[in-house]
Amino acid sequence: MLFAVRAVSKINKIAIPPLLREIAAVFNAHGKQVFLVGGAVRDMLRGTSHVDWDLASDARPEEVMAIFPVVIPTGIKHGTVTIRYKKHSIEVTTYRRDGDYGDGRHPDRIEYASGIEEDLSRRDFTMNAIAAELPGGRILDPYCGRADIENRFIRCVGKAEDRLNEDGLRALRALRFASQLSFDIDEELLQAIKSNPEMIHPVSIERVKLEFDKIIASDKPSTALLYMEKCGLLRLILPELLRCRGVEQKGYHRFDVLDHSLLACDYAARNGYRQSVRIAALFHDIGKPKTAKRGDSGVWTFYNHETASADITRSIMTRLRYSNAEIDETAHLVREHMFNYTPSWSESAVRRFVRRAGEKNLSALFDLRRADSFGMTGAEPPLDMLFDFQDAINSTLAKGRALSLKDLAVNGKDLMQAGIPCGKRMGLILGQLLEAVLDDPDLNTKEKLLEIALAYAGQN
Ligand code: ATP
Ligand code: MG
Repeated sequence: MLFAVRAVSKINKIAIPPLLREIAAVFNAHGKQVFLVGGAVRDMLRGTSHVDWDLASDARPEEVMAIFPVVIPTGIKHGTVTIRYKKHSIEVTTYRRDGDYGDGRHPDRIEYASGIEEDLSRRDFTMNAIAAELPGGRILDPYCGRADIENRFIRCVGKAEDRLNEDGLRALRALRFASQLSFDIDEELLQAIKSNPEMIHPVSIERVKLEFDKIIASDKPSTALLYMEKCGLLRLILPELLRCRGVEQKGYHRFDVLDHSLLACDYAARNGYRQSVRIAALFHDIGKPKTAKRGDSGVWTFYNHETASADITRSIMTRLRYSNAEIDETAHLVREHMFNYTPSWSESAVRRFVRRAGEKNLSALFDLRRADSFGMTGAEPPLDMLFDFQDAINSTLAKGRALSLKDLAVNGKDLMQAGIPCGKRMGLILGQLLEAVLDDPDLNTKEKLLEIALAYAGQN
């Protein structure tokens, strides 16, 4: 008979930073135990650093508040307080046992657990259910999390189906960790998500958004997004993206719209592009299913898909409660992603492009374009067009930077003094002056613009 044997790790201790030793000494001096838990232990065992420290202790929140001078009650109803110590914030949660999860997300009540072992048993994955005793760093690993970390494996503490039914967020956390850590997901856990993806419904949209954001911020967002597709979560969370599956675009691309978008998003992530560019890379063609038309020659066209994609991007990001600034920036990048510079563009065309795209968005738009090009073939694209375009923009802007009304050498007051009455007509004239300057920046002097303005005023 064959037995599946999980490798047992030899690491029994981790090195504890001096600051945590000092904090532990305070707990111990008051007769309290304290352990480092969660992501910090996981990441130290992986050999990487973790930004925040979570501690678990038998001290109740009010006891922690009594023994440290500065403590903020950040999550009292979950038994959590935050110690401020030498400019660091350290979360301490009293050993917890969760009550029943009547609604699939929030435990009905918080009860304190008898010890660290019981506290670890309520945690989501074996890799997250390891504690390091402070100050010494001795490891407690009742669910063989170290072995799973070494084997790069995400596995639930206990029966996957039960743990996901208690809290549907764990499904999304598992997929997010797969993207962040490049770990595989245990088959039982995958099957449990697949058999009931609706478990995600009780999870608040804010939590879903946080996980989506972490997926996009990871080095390889496609890992989680493909798992989401496979398990049925994409259909529930981002149905617009799932609609891109099977939308072929032969002639331009090797891949269907979904795979193309995932490749583009991974490229943006791999190159460290900012979050708005990564999201724009994922959604830049999401309007294609809606605008697809097969021409007489049998080739698919997607006219104006960038406008449809920008609208859908807005609606998804609004649903996920992104801020207006984030939505505006990302939708704008999606809307403008189709530029196709050739050396035949006049300076005026270059200036008009910069005006519409916005000077501050140019580098993000170029990044998006690189990601889009990579997504067409899956290979590093030849990007002479972008270098030529950048040169054309630099030389054009060097000749004049009047790109908006505020850059004009005249303002409304000047026009009024020249006898043009304030009002709608003046607004139109200022717009015409800007058009003239976009065509010829040499016209941007007070004298010339007043002359043109008076000529316009006389005509109208
Ligand atoms: P990161 O901070 O990178 O998101 P993390 O593992 O530290 O990773 P946190 O959300 O900070 O995750 O949570 C800290 C710990 O709390 C986790 O490692 C895990 O032990 C536990 N935990 C968090 N969320 C859940 C959950 N939904 N169900 C069970 N345990 C959880
Ligand atoms: Mg954490």
